[in-house]
Amino acid sequence: MQQDFDVIVVGSGAGAMVSAIRAKDLGLDVLIVEKSHLYGGTSALSGGVVWFPCNPAVANDSADEAMTYLHAITAGEAREERLQAYVASAPEALAYLEAQEVHFDSVQGWPDYFSDRPGAREGRSMVARTVDAADLGQSIFTLRDQTYGFRLLDRYALDLAEANALATRPPGWAWTAFKVVARYWLDWSWRRITERDRRLTMGAALVGALRRAVDRKGIPLWLNTALKSLEVENGRVTGATIAQHGRTFGVSARKGIVLACGGFEHDQALRTEHWPVPTDIRWSHTPKGANTGDGFRAATALGAGTEFLEYAWWAQSTQLPSLKEPNQTNTYQMFFDKHHPNSLVVNQLGERFVNECMSYDRFGTAMVEDYQKTGGANVPCWLVFDATYRKHYTAGGIMPSTVMPDRKIPQAWWDSFLYRADTVGALAEKLGMNPATLERQVARMNGFAKAGKDDDFDRGGTQYEIFNAGDKRVSPNPCLGPVDTPPYYAVRIDLGDVGNKGGLKVSADAQVLDKQDRPIAGLYAIGNAAGSPFGKAYPGGGGTLGPATIFGFRAANHLAQRNR
Ligand code: FAD
Repeated sequence: MQQDFDVIVVGSGAGAMVSAIRAKDLGLDVLIVEKSHLYGGTSALSGGVVWFPCNPAVANDSADEAMTYLHAITAGEAREERLQAYVASAPEALAYLEAQEVHFDSVQGWPDYFSDRPGAREGRSMVARTVDAADLGQSIFTLRDQTYGFRLLDRYALDLAEANALATRPPGWAWTAFKVVARYWLDWSWRRITERDRRLTMGAALVGALRRAVDRKGIPLWLNTALKSLEVENGRVTGATIAQHGRTFGVSARKGIVLACGGFEHDQALRTEHWPVPTDIRWSHTPKGANTGDGFRAATALGAGTEFLEYAWWAQSTQLPSLKEPNQTNTYQMFFDKHHPNSLVVNQLGERFVNECMSYDRFGTAMVEDYQKTGGANVPCWLVFDATYRKHYTAGGIMPSTVMPDRKIPQAWWDSFLYRADTVGALAEKLGMNPATLERQVARMNGFAKAGKDDDFDRGGTQYEIFNAGDKRVSPNPCLGPVDTPPYYAVRIDLGDVGNKGGLKVSADAQVLDKQDRPIAGLYAIGNAAGSPFGKAYPGGGGTLGPATIFGFRAANHLAQRNR
């Protein structure tokens, strides 16, 4: 087995594979190591959306406009050279990926997450185009499966438009669902091979297209192979000790190592040490046991600097009891459920504390701030809704009552996962809140819904909220509906995440910096292994795969230049 390469890329998410194919194209001999028996990491579970400012589909964008926006949302907390590098390389990285047949489509009408700030645009978020799984040959069988939240009935792949149609149910949604199912069952030839849908969509499409490029270029990808530590000679990282099937050995990297092995969101001790409030690894949406801070530990052992460690990419979750495995739960996303009309979110005192329709990352920050302000009366908080909501929307993974009526819900779930009462006051008592407080908050929400204006938090006040959370059937404000039809329900919302926002401090070319901000020769970090280029802010859909992809591209360029 070959044990010396120019470059070792640790991890096999989207950024890792971009780095690997680019480095290979620039003449370097590359190895990818992945500790799991599946490749793709969180990237494969994801929506496959990448934030590309200045992409050709947005006519009125420019580097200046993108920088204006980033300056407005990062408020001096991000390093200028990284912001500049991101914006400068986004169009080039996109063009390079398109040339590798990793295609993207701009999501028309999708605004940046701070759509009211100067320089904000629609269409910078681009989603990976659907890929035919057959193109991947044998590699399809080790691709990490898409999150079940993005599959209909845990089986049929949905693209972004289909997922959106099923969540918001505009006219024609049932026909969309029918086509998704029919396409699967009519695909006889493929179903003889696997139960898995032939259509790779969203994150699976992104990782699938990249894996196709990796295989075409003949880059080895070793599964079940974990980085253990980094080897240093004369102040330069020259290799890694890796573990594979119980064996530990060294592999040399003549030019450098790219850490693309995610953050530490699956290491309880590191979360507890760095994150601002008590959290639980089960709340994370990322693959169990994958991102346990291995790259973080290996690099900090060499004296690497870090930044933004107290922040994660917050994305609310709840523990949905498993129907298949008794006593088990699945981590279900609450970042869409929390913002439908006919609902409100309250802390443990029964008080609203946030605009429920703001982006999941900002919502998570509000949970943290409310926890700190109230001395612990948040994390978790509660989604409270009525029978109208229950009829139209999913709640914590439970399908609308038109599909899954209350009588079909397992008895054990009542008042342990899904709470229900005939009055708002009785519901408050079940949740341990003062009934008068919750009744007052619900009455205020009902008044706002009638007036179409939320005087407390301005829910539905921005273009982003209307696009993302609004239900066009609801007026005068598509984000506000009364909570007035019994019975009343509640589901718990935990402070979930889609990975670390903080990590190793890196340069504009993704070189890991030491505590004096000097590059550690031969060591690079991208994706959630590195600190976010945007500081605390989440600019728009694709704001985490963007840095992974674009700094993966830049890391490879830098490795090759230094090589020359
Ligand atoms: P990952 O993709 O998680 O890859 C890290 C890999 O490193 C893993 O495969 C892991 O097993 C491997 N690894 C860890 N330790 C080692 C080791 N010691 N040795 C070898 N390998 C190791 N973000 C967006 O920008 N757009 C979206 O549309 C989007 N949608 C999302 C939807 C969901 C449901 C979820 C959960 C997340 C979503 N995100 C999205 C977030 C995004 O997926 C992650 O932030 C991103 O994938 C992180 O990329 P990464 O390369 O840092 O890590």
